Amino acid sequence: MASTTQLVGTPVVPGIAHGPVLLARGEIAQSALDSFDPAAFPDADSALGRYDEVAAAVADGFAAKADRASGAAAEVLTASAGLARDKGLRGAVQKELAAGDDLLTAVRKAVDSFVAIFTSMGGLMAERATDLRDIERRMVARIVGEPEPGVPVPEQPCILVAGDLAPADTAGLDPEVVLALVTERGGPTSHTAIIARQLGIPCVVGTAGVLDVAPEARVLVDGTAGTVEVDPDHEDAERRVAADREARAATAAWAGPGRTSDGKPVRILANVADGESARSAAQAPVEGVGLFRTELSFLNRKDEPSVEEQAEIYGEVLDAFAEPGPGGQDRYVVVRTLDAGSDKPLAFANLTDEENPALGVRGLRLSFDNPGLLDRQLDGIARASEAAGTETWVMAPMVATVAEAADFAAHVRARGLKAGVMVEVPSAALLAHQMLAAVDFLSIGTNDLTQYTMAADRMATDLAHLTDAWQPAVLQLIAITAEAGRQAQKSVGVCGEAAADPLLACALVGMGITSLSMAAAAVRPVGAMLASVTSEQCEDAAEAALAAPDPQAAREAVRTVLSGS
Ligand code: PEP
Ligand code: MG
Repeated sequence: MASTTQLVGTPVVPGIAHGPVLLARGEIAQSALDSFDPAAFPDADSALGRYDEVAAAVADGFAAKADRASGAAAEVLTASAGLARDKGLRGAVQKELAAGDDLLTAVRKAVDSFVAIFTSMGGLMAERATDLRDIERRMVARIVGEPEPGVPVPEQPCILVAGDLAPADTAGLDPEVVLALVTERGGPTSHTAIIARQLGIPCVVGTAGVLDVAPEARVLVDGTAGTVEVDPDHEDAERRVAADREARAATAAWAGPGRTSDGKPVRILANVADGESARSAAQAPVEGVGLFRTELSFLNRKDEPSVEEQAEIYGEVLDAFAEPGPGGQDRYVVVRTLDAGSDKPLAFANLTDEENPALGVRGLRLSFDNPGLLDRQLDGIARASEAAGTETWVMAPMVATVAEAADFAAHVRARGLKAGVMVEVPSAALLAHQMLAAVDFLSIGTNDLTQYTMAADRMATDLAHLTDAWQPAVLQLIAITAEAGRQAQKSVGVCGEAAADPLLACALVGMGITSLSMAAAAVRPVGAMLASVTSEQCEDAAEAALAAPDPQAAREAVRTVLSGS
């Protein structure tokens, strides 16, 4: 029997997966670079031959990834493939080799000279320097016989292990091939967690030691317990995967609409990023979209898209929900205006370097100095809404004052759309009554609300116990907001990751939350859980959660109330 090491992290997406590790590396190990032997290539021709092989492999890797990606991500990957095959770059390597340099030095010097040229050209060309450096690292890795840094192209079903993952890193990841995500850094509300939910694959973050796992190892990831077992007993691992698959099949049978067992309606909605994720979410038993993160369509954009182009991109999402859902009900889409800044900077919107970007000019605040940015986006949304005929609500991120909410609502209503704001800043929750007097609906972004309530960076591994929406202070703010909605008889939803937690979702409903928006993959687990409990149990769960002294006690209290024991 194999000896097993167990690593422990923070569980973020439940489910069990077993497979070989695929390591997404940041840097190439110095020991690998030191082991390179220039004598392996006796002359310039043989070194150039190896360069050709390596350049082709790197280019093919980008091209394969581009095939699986869409939109801007595909464009960037295709451009990188072209750059890796570039004849000019090859010529520069050839020149250095002819001058007597070894292959590694020749590649470095050639890339340095191209970077210098691109940088001196400025603008768009200068930004390609980063892509060149990425290509260089990938080529150097192949030359010294190491796996490529960054997210490699999986060739077989695998468990993707990384330091952390950025949204652009994961463009085109295929959930059929990437069975689970494990990261060394990041908390439960990091973008790795959000991406894993979108892909519907088990995920554990903040897993100390996972980058030291041997590349050829097999691991068993338990996204409920937050454990990663290295080289587990094969049969036992496969049995656990099969049992998990069976449990998932039971949940998969849930077909909506969102209701407690005694018939209290709760709108179950999807979080989407673009047309592709919207079309896929439209197949799920949801009543629409509760959060369309528009900024994710523009992460790789250097320039602001025109109103026409924006209308086209938003139209893809609205079109996906133009027809009634599987239950025959009309559907609607909540579009969030650009939430650029902090962990999602946009080249055309975030113009200054900030000491503390999470507390800086992000979200709606970008429009203070640049009102045209918001107006053009609202024009694009209004145009798309008119063309699609889908009911469209629009909300702003990072709203801190009632005046901001009222001003935003005026801009949205001027275009005939329903206006709301996100509750992500504690001030907005505390003023929920006044906020609701100014807008038509509220949507609680529990990821940021938790970050700002607990003064704990949502990306900080060491603070995962604080960046937990089950924290009593966060639950109190949610309860205040939900109660304000009940009194005003206006919709108050939750669209942060808390909505995707089946236990917490029931407690939220008990507080008076009227809609829950989540990654499409979480829809059935949450819907099935709600369908198995009464509205009275949800109210008892809310009371128990609010009375608990800490997150763990709150989880246990809610589990007890909901299981009826
Ligand atoms: C949130 O903060 O909860 C939210 C939904 O917004 P994002 O995760 O995109 O910051
Ligand atoms: Mg947010």
